[in-house]
Amino acid sequence: MKHCLFVPKFTYILRGSHFWKHPTLISNLDNLILETLTTVFNISFGERTWTQASLPVRLGGLGIRKISSVALPAFLASVHGAQNLIGKILAPSLGVLEAAHCSEAKNVWSLTCPNTDPPVNPCSQRQWDEPLCRLTRNSLLETALSPTDRARLIATAEWESGLWLQALPSPTIGTLLDNSTFRLATCLRIGASTNMPHRCQCGVMVDNLGHHGLSCSRSAGRIPRHASINDVIRRAFVSAKVPALLEPNGLVRDDGKRPDGMTLVPWSMGRPLVWDATCVDTLAPSHIPGTKVDAGAAASSAESLKRRKYVNLGSSYIFAAFGVETLGPWGPSARRLYKELAKRLIEASGDQRAGLYFAQRISIAIQRGNAASLLGTLPSGLDLGQIFYL
Ligand SMILES: [Zn+2]
Repeated sequence: MKHCLFVPKFTYILRGSHFWKHPTLISNLDNLILETLTTVFNISFGERTWTQASLPVRLGGLGIRKISSVALPAFLASVHGAQNLIGKILAPSLGVLEAAHCSEAKNVWSLTCPNTDPPVNPCSQRQWDEPLCRLTRNSLLETALSPTDRARLIATAEWESGLWLQALPSPTIGTLLDNSTFRLATCLRIGASTNMPHRCQCGVMVDNLGHHGLSCSRSAGRIPRHASINDVIRRAFVSAKVPALLEPNGLVRDDGKRPDGMTLVPWSMGRPLVWDATCVDTLAPSHIPGTKVDAGAAASSAESLKRRKYVNLGSSYIFAAFGVETLGPWGPSARRLYKELAKRLIEASGDQRAGLYFAQRISIAIQRGNAASLLGTLPSGLDLGQIFYL
């Protein structure tokens, strides 16, 4: 979507002209992009949601940029990139030349981001763009509507949170999200309305953001999500030439339950690896005090709990907790396991992106679970279309 929508097709004009000086034209085009997005995604964008959506994926957006954000950095990078060549083509006697509107553009940029040094490499559009994007993100954080809103903004800017948006949508390899899942995942990411307010099957009122579904005691997506994450992990081990199985017999933790999986050959130091995965809700009221400050705080404390449960496992096994959150961030133990597993996947397959594919699949499994959880709050027997904007 982000490669199709307008801005990439328009880059040549943005770089080759002083388009940034025409606010009316820019605003007309931005409105057109917004209308197209609203139609295609079936989401009602407010000003804040549209601003977040227009940020790059790495900063918590959808990567669908506004012309008004890109026009100035594109022009500045282009005039600096072309300056040397222009100097060589024209007679050296003319001295140092500067493209028309260049100093004015630099002034506008400096005024927009005061106290920021100009880019080290002025030919890089990203370096001109980055401070402007960070400014937008910081203003969203400073004006956060609630601790939940803040926690969402912090969580969605993590690398792992945006992976489902980067995956190649292919039905044959199972990475294509259906329209409803994609819409709900997008709404959760940017804080848009997912459904009409209604009463959940557990009796609690669900507001238009639908967050209750993620932490509801009857959450319909929890079990399939857990199974799916473990299946992705087991498959990754097998692809890395480390046979593994789910729910091994003979290993019982303190509360009588079994861990999620174990490798059947030693993982390191002659010991097999035992893992237990968990997905906790970033926006659950009990997690907000942590997640509104640090990304991944809920996943991290869930991992600590898991480690305590398996403290009696003994030294013949290596234990790894794999904690992730509904809005995407991973815990430190999950990141460590990912790093090692990605290395082995790359070695085994020869494909430098093998590790990334594994991470994308985890991210997709989380989003599918979230969508199922949100849909699961519906009163039974009621037509979906009456409540969700499907
Ligand atoms: Zn409920």
